[in-house]
Amino acid sequence: MVRRALLKAIFLSATGLVLPVSVLQAGTPSRVSHMRLWTDPEHTRIVFDLDKKVRYSLYNDADARQITIKIKNVQWLVDPSALKIEDAIVAGAALSQGGSGTVQLAFSLKKRVSPRAFLLKSVGGKPPRLVIELQQADVEAMEKEQPVLVSQSKKREPVIVIDPGHGGEDPGAIGLGGTYEKTVTLEVAHKLRHELTASGYQAHLTRTDDYFVPLRKRVSIARQHGADLFVSLHADAFRIASARGASVYCLSEQGRPEPDRALRMLVERENSADLIGGVDLGEVADPELRDILMDLSQRDARNRAMSYGNTLLTSLKRVPALQLHFRSVKQAGFAVLQSPDIPSVLVEMAFLSNRDEEIQLRKREHQEALVRALTNGTEAFFRSVALA
Ligand SMILES: [Zn+2]
Repeated sequence: MVRRALLKAIFLSATGLVLPVSVLQAGTPSRVSHMRLWTDPEHTRIVFDLDKKVRYSLYNDADARQITIKIKNVQWLVDPSALKIEDAIVAGAALSQGGSGTVQLAFSLKKRVSPRAFLLKSVGGKPPRLVIELQQADVEAMEKEQPVLVSQSKKREPVIVIDPGHGGEDPGAIGLGGTYEKTVTLEVAHKLRHELTASGYQAHLTRTDDYFVPLRKRVSIARQHGADLFVSLHADAFRIASARGASVYCLSEQGRPEPDRALRMLVERENSADLIGGVDLGEVADPELRDILMDLSQRDARNRAMSYGNTLLTSLKRVPALQLHFRSVKQAGFAVLQSPDIPSVLVEMAFLSNRDEEIQLRKREHQEALVRALTNGTEAFFRSVALA
């Protein structure tokens, strides 16, 4: 009888009548279909796929050995094996189900953490999600002390920070054959780091494994390393499967609109990484970074980025099996390129939406040829700077 009344209420709501709040609260439960865990060097993130928003509360035990999340009015459909989790922070999970669809999950911990939880809206083909983020308490204290900039002594080797695009919750583009952009960018980034190090540079990665790093964090990692150059690696996708070729991008002047629709779509896709990967929206506003962005040195960094982009393109042109999508460096408003003082470029290595290029980009020999070209281009840039 209650069910029939509810169905009637839902039917009425479809015709435009407003439901009383009590009926809304007693609505159909949200289905929790998957639970997964991502580990990066500082955090563990536990993600639940939902089919609509849920109400939840997060509790931290006084002795900090356990956190508990209580989720209300849900239908728990998660595979029990998903609860067998263990990483650097979490020792295990235990589920208990109460009445009226309340689910309680207790996570036992190996370390002291500062926990938080937030909801993510459905975006980029991802369902709505509930995220628990556990930050190691000692890491949080370190971050509060602010990053220490590497001293800029003249004698040191040049520092290049390589940014493998996407990661964790955010796969980036997905090829027809199932290749994830986040996977190929990481493979090429590791190889590039190795090659640059062998060539006498200091090279660092913004992520070393499959986990999500917010865009602004990637920028701040480059600053922490005192980077001389920042190169973000990506692979494009387009609705027209014949689109192909590599391209190199620099940051455009702020506020300048993207010249064409395809470029606008690419920038939107790359910049939406934070929403897909799961940044709590409250986290995006960063007054420190905003102030830095006002810095006048940005113009100088942009000019140097253009010349770095050009040496990379010249070098990429020599890779036998590689086509170029654009024969000149393009400028666009990519969030990850917004370092005020570090010349930053973004390389779209290929189109994953092109079947031939997807296969090619997965090949070791092709990745190695790309890496050699990027290394040669980097060396050419530093030679040109030394001559100037
Ligand atoms: Zn990308």
